[in-house]
Amino acid sequence: MNEEEKKDLEEKQLHNHKKVKTIFKIIGPIVIVAGLVFAIIGFADFISSASNFEQPTKFWCLFIGLPAMAFGGMFTLAGFRKEIMRYNMHETTPVFNEAGKQIQPGISAISNAVKNSDAPICPVCGSLNDKDSAFCKKCGAALSKTCPHCGASLDADANFCDKCGKKLSDEQKI
Ligand SMILES: [Zn+2]
Ligand SMILES: [Zn+2]
Repeated sequence: MNEEEKKDLEEKQLHNHKKVKTIFKIIGPIVIVAGLVFAIIGFADFISSASNFEQPTKFWCLFIGLPAMAFGGMFTLAGFRKEIMRYNMHETTPVFNEAGKQIQPGISAISNAVKNSDAPICPVCGSLNDKDSAFCKKCGAALSKTCPHCGASLDADANFCDKCGKKLSDEQKI
């Protein structure tokens, strides 16, 4: 088979595929309606014969009608799958974006909190200062100090050095 024939066959298959879909689109609803009619006949006969204390004679219609409706539904879904998917995509995308917009501030607030988790809190006024700042931006108090024994940098409100364990006297705090 050469390329031309291959292409031709592919095109034919695509065409057939489209044709099958079109058939599904037409047959699907017809089968649903036919199934519905059969189901109604069967059901109506069942009700009427039950109220007349007779054996239902068209009860089999229900057994044809219900599966026919199911098959018809499947055919219709298969035929309209592309349209349904397109509709769903169209419908869900803005909703998703909208949800994303609403989640976004929450996420940035959380990420900011995580980013600032090691931001120094002023020991005097308690305000949260930017990371790496040496003095409180609200009251000017020192946010960190150096251990007089080992030179480690410590939190301003530390009572003991966390490097050498020595007690820090009050006058050495600032
Ligand atoms: Zn302060
Ligand atoms: Zn120390």
